[in-house]
Amino acid sequence: MRVCILGGGTAGWMVASALSVKLKKSIKTMALVESEDIGIVGVGEATLPHIKFFNEGLGIKENVFMKATEATFKLGIEFCDWGSLGQQYVHPFGDFGQSINHVEFYQHWLKLNQKGHAGRLDEYAYGIVAAKNEKFQYPSDGKTELQQAFGYAYQFDASLYAKFLRDLSVGNGVNRVEGKVVEVLQDNDSGDVTTVILENGQQIEADLFIDCSGFRGVLIEQTLKSGYQDWSQWLPCNRAVAVPCERQGGLTPYTRATARKAGWQWRIPLQHRTGNGHVFWDEFMSEDEATSLLLDNLDGPALDEPKQLYFKTGRRNHFWKNNVVAIGLASGFLEPLESTSIHLIQEGITNLLELFPHDAVSALDAAEYNSRMSLQYERVRDFLLLHYVATQRDDSEMWRYFRNMTLPDSLQEKIDCWMHRGYVQRYEFGAFLPPSWIAVMIGQNLFPNHYDPRVDQSQIEQVKQQFNSMRTDIANSVGRAKTHADFLAAIDAASNTKQLRVN
Ligand code: FAD
Repeated sequence: MRVCILGGGTAGWMVASALSVKLKKSIKTMALVESEDIGIVGVGEATLPHIKFFNEGLGIKENVFMKATEATFKLGIEFCDWGSLGQQYVHPFGDFGQSINHVEFYQHWLKLNQKGHAGRLDEYAYGIVAAKNEKFQYPSDGKTELQQAFGYAYQFDASLYAKFLRDLSVGNGVNRVEGKVVEVLQDNDSGDVTTVILENGQQIEADLFIDCSGFRGVLIEQTLKSGYQDWSQWLPCNRAVAVPCERQGGLTPYTRATARKAGWQWRIPLQHRTGNGHVFWDEFMSEDEATSLLLDNLDGPALDEPKQLYFKTGRRNHFWKNNVVAIGLASGFLEPLESTSIHLIQEGITNLLELFPHDAVSALDAAEYNSRMSLQYERVRDFLLLHYVATQRDDSEMWRYFRNMTLPDSLQEKIDCWMHRGYVQRYEFGAFLPPSWIAVMIGQNLFPNHYDPRVDQSQIEQVKQQFNSMRTDIANSVGRAKTHADFLAAIDAASNTKQLRVN
């Protein structure tokens, strides 16, 4: 196959690097076209743990990548003011506690919580306790199962990540072409894209095109008219303003998402700066108000002019149409509340690798790809929406809007099952496993009506003792761990060791 990737943002270079490593023998030529005039979105700094496996699959050394992208470790997301004003919890990567008498920990926690003996759920997750203490260790460094029951992701400078992958891809033979695509030629009969033509007249022909052109969707939408499923009735925030600021204080190994009256604000600590942004719904907040709210809530002085971004939540009707596969922002967008966009790029790549055409593009592969990616998108949508609807907040028009909303059936069913008996439906595909749902539902005060009846078969005093020993085990282990900054320095992942310890 001859492959042409249109776009050199995070998506384009992730695709190029993965195809150039994993499908070297199946690809005859691979070109990537990007335009410096158009540029990239340039935000997108927090990720999910799966990216670690993506990098490993490409043979990338963790410390080399972290140093090159000013990366920090991420143990989860702290959510402030979501369930109610003044309340906070952390959604970690990993499980809470350990099963007792073969019944999941959280079921015992639900019972003890009713009796006022449970303590905060946060205290039973190694990742959360480490995050709160600005500590880090690898899961494999833990001495007990409980100390190993967590995962981690990264926070990094997305533009540097794209550059890092660009060097890797070009080194693997990807032909980088600078220029703007101004015309697209299609086959008269099939409608397949045959050629893209650049401003300078250069023509690039290919058998398979990957559209990574960002929100524009130059091939998937402007050319093939895939159509867009607009999900803004569920996720109505449609604007963001982003600004980096000087890093102050310790190096927190987690992202923060603070709910605001018409949206929410992110804070993402990197080695050299802190990324910030305010996602908002322009129906209830002006650009000026959103920008000043953001600037008033930075850790330190802003390092740049605030950047305005516009989006419509949803996804393309077809991710793969004819011989074009859209990946990244060209395929759809869901707000970055759970750092899922880069993950969806990764899912797109994994599915493309599995379904990569042998010698000709097949409608069967496209259909399978579309059905898998639709599920991924829908499941992320439901999980994001959960944050807005599992709340007692009604202090602004946006929060009142969510209280009166009809939910997608898939989410309503999931919440109903939880409320009925603390049961989290499991499903194939989807980034978020039951512990993530439990973290958000309990974190935002959505308590089920019943817990698992097997919990009552255990002696409550014994359960309390086991709870105490789990808390102690985690606290002791975190006490011995290195600080996040020291850990980065120790594994040679710091771009500048002095800068890490700024206070
Ligand atoms: P872009 O970065 O827009 O790149 C598009 C590329 O296409 C560019 O190289 C451009 O030059 C090229 N191009 C376009 N048209 C043409 C043309 N005609 N000719 C030639 N080249 C062309 N994701 C996360 O995982 N975590 C986060 O924390 C996160 N935060 C975000 C916050 C906001 C407010 C937004 C909007 C997004 C966020 N994202 C986040 C998403 C993340 O930024 C994107 O998924 C990621 O950057 C991928 O973008 P992309 O490569 O698809 O598009």
